[in-house]
Amino acid sequence: MAPTAAERDESERFDRGIFTRMGELGLTAAPFPESDGGAGFSYLGWTLVMEELGAADMASAVTLSVHVLSQFPVFSWGSAEQKGRWLPPMLAGTALGAFALTEPHAGSDASQIRARAERVGPADAPDGYRLTGTKIWISNAPEADRYLVFASVDPARGAKGIGAFLVEKGMDGFTFGAHERKMGIRSCPAAELVFDGCLVPVANRLGAEGEGYRIALSALAEGRISIAAACVGIARSALEQATGYLQERRAFGGPLADQQGLRFMLAEMARDVAAARALTREAAATRDRGEPIGEASSLAKWTASDTAMRVATDAVQLFGGSGYSRETGVERLMRDAKGAQIYEGTNQIHRLIVADEVLKRARPG
Ligand SMILES: Cc1cc2nc3c(=O)[nH]c(=O)nc-3n(C[C@H](O)[C@H](O)[C@H](O)COP(=O)(O)OP(=O)(O)OC[C@H]3O[C@@H](n4cnc5c(N)ncnc54)[C@H](O)[C@@H]3O)c2cc1C
Repeated sequence: MAPTAAERDESERFDRGIFTRMGELGLTAAPFPESDGGAGFSYLGWTLVMEELGAADMASAVTLSVHVLSQFPVFSWGSAEQKGRWLPPMLAGTALGAFALTEPHAGSDASQIRARAERVGPADAPDGYRLTGTKIWISNAPEADRYLVFASVDPARGAKGIGAFLVEKGMDGFTFGAHERKMGIRSCPAAELVFDGCLVPVANRLGAEGEGYRIALSALAEGRISIAAACVGIARSALEQATGYLQERRAFGGPLADQQGLRFMLAEMARDVAAARALTREAAATRDRGEPIGEASSLAKWTASDTAMRVATDAVQLFGGSGYSRETGVERLMRDAKGAQIYEGTNQIHRLIVADEVLKRARPG
């Protein structure tokens, strides 16, 4: 992935061949149990994969992470019939997945989504739900084949009225709107989804009618660890590139690496990478132990994405003018890191999640 990352970023070109190759290598099945056709990696093992991918090309890492994110709920909430129908091509990497929650007026406050899933039938055959509404910022769209879509079955019930639906590209009434024109991860596509009375069979509803919001939150908690690991990869790559540059570049009679002020910067970058990696692996180990991951995954994603942003920004500084040029590639790390402070819950929202957990623990009794 690495040799073509800059060209794909520049031309905003999604390369389906990379995803297909990930499937051939078994990466699309990695973090899922063998009993359901997965490769049976521990989640800790999965973070090692994501760190390497993030270091090479964050855009492709995000494509894989979102693909995996869209599958978690099928493993946890899907019926045997749904698993058998939905998962095999996703695990093999022959079908690409996407996760569709965000809407124009509802991002952080996702309980306020307005997309509607209106039950039709049984008199109005065929039995199912008619989806109407718009989703924005959906990563992997329009390239993805399969979409996990959240829509309200009963708006009066708020978050408890949201359902989760398995939707396939090509279903009547499902089209794509504008492509997002992004600052970073430009070779990972993102687009609007438009539902205009799209009929989704009842058999494609995941979980009970009002369980969608819970399904979304639990999937996102898992996905955040994966994004955190990819961010550790960005930060590591920035540190490695800056280290190489300081050793090569000469000024004031010697290599820049002789300058104590710059050595201090490198040391702080190394400290931050190590700390972010430790928190990320601890979150993965928490999941592997079967313990609740809400707080650990928020701490990991918040810390690792801030670290990626800070370390990549420092790397640009250490490269001087070359760092600001699109030729060297370090500015791409900085642009790619910025998005990770926003998606899968902004880092403000992670502060809220962590504070809630801290207060809950401190509550008497
Ligand atoms: C690159 C990228 C890829 C994405 N991919 C997907 C995808 O695949 N699927 C999907 O469903 N969505 C996706 N998103 C959408 C993303 O999840 C939302 O952008 C994000 O949740 C923030 O929502 P918002 O943009 O509506 O911002 P808002 O919620 O409007 O927030 C605006 C600002 O206010 C802050 N804020 C909001 N509420 C609070 C509060 N209570 N306290 C403190 N601060 C607050 C936020 O942190 C932010 O800084 C993607 C976004 C990006 C940038």
